[in-house]
Amino acid sequence: MSSEIINDKERTNNIRMIKLIAVIFMSLLISGMKAENASEKTWIIVIDAGHGGKDPGAVGKISREKNINLAIALKTGEYLEQNVENVSVLYTRKTDEFMELRDRPEFANKNNADLFISIHSNWISKSTIKGSETWIMGPAQNDQNLEVAMKENEVILLEDDFSTKYEGFDPKSPESYIMFTVMQNTFRQQSTLLASTIQSQLKNRAGRIDRGVKQAGFWVLYMTTMPSVLVETGFITNPDEEKYLVSKEGQDYIASAIYRAIRDYINEIDKKTNISTSKEKEQVSTPDSSVSDRVPVVDELRYMIQIATSAVKKSLTPDNFKGFKDVVELSSQNLFRYATGSFSSYQQAAEYRNKIEAIYPDAFVIAVKNNKIVPLQDALNSK
Ligand SMILES: [Zn+2]
Repeated sequence: MSSEIINDKERTNNIRMIKLIAVIFMSLLISGMKAENASEKTWIIVIDAGHGGKDPGAVGKISREKNINLAIALKTGEYLEQNVENVSVLYTRKTDEFMELRDRPEFANKNNADLFISIHSNWISKSTIKGSETWIMGPAQNDQNLEVAMKENEVILLEDDFSTKYEGFDPKSPESYIMFTVMQNTFRQQSTLLASTIQSQLKNRAGRIDRGVKQAGFWVLYMTTMPSVLVETGFITNPDEEKYLVSKEGQDYIASAIYRAIRDYINEIDKKTNISTSKEKEQVSTPDSSVSDRVPVVDELRYMIQIATSAVKKSLTPDNFKGFKDVVELSSQNLFRYATGSFSSYQQAAEYRNKIEAIYPDAFVIAVKNNKIVPLQDALNSK
């Protein structure tokens, strides 16, 4: 009897031990899986519904801009959360509340957002005009563009003590907008890519008239420290478009178009990042990158690291580029691009980019031939 009890006890102990081992094994497995997931980037997307509360935004015959913006913003976020795995969506407002203009970009900066998307609806005196446009930060190239930015910045006037809060910036004075002509928009290229993806989705998915990607001095885009766009979904001054903008169907289509564009943008950038990581893993036997073959740009294909863009020409002194001495200028589409390093292989360029990431977090590898930027994918395929 006693030996049976001992056997039973032993058996119980053995079972406990097996269970314990199983638990330890499972938890190791799970922690391993977690570590793997953690390496996949989570994209923090801030969606900003323009206006709100005492600021109605543009006022149409049957609608107020603030309500349209909020409905589309919430729906866009919902689509993103439902359909894209690695996103975290944050909203500057989720209800009909007033928010100071400067708090919107600050919210995105504070949360280390990867993208900032401000959603608006347009106003113009001519009721025949309709269509969608997406804006990026930059100096306005004509009076109409300046007017759109002025209109969207005007809300500042509803705030107390706006002159102090906005460093003397007066949304109604054209002189105030001169500061935007000298600024450097580090995220111009990414913002343009996102903006043009949104425009093509709005056109193809939602059947909107494509009024293009435009630039002007919007305060919300000026203050953000990540790729940022402002979408003017349509004109509430056009009776047909206003009807579309207030309808559930119209809001669904517009939100769906914006969501798809963000999804495609994320995939595009993730794909580029994956190219660099997978190549780096293969890199075990290649020599130290410090003996990289840095030579001036010649007519053969080279990989360089773009560190800055500017609408105005800059002199190539190290002071202008955080001490970098080998900066070259490449111009394309009214824009001066500045790049450093020059490598014959993508791998070396990617490694160098990682090295300077702390100094230029937004730097990325570009392919250059005959002093012209060529599509990276084409360059990689050509080898
Ligand atoms: Zn607006």
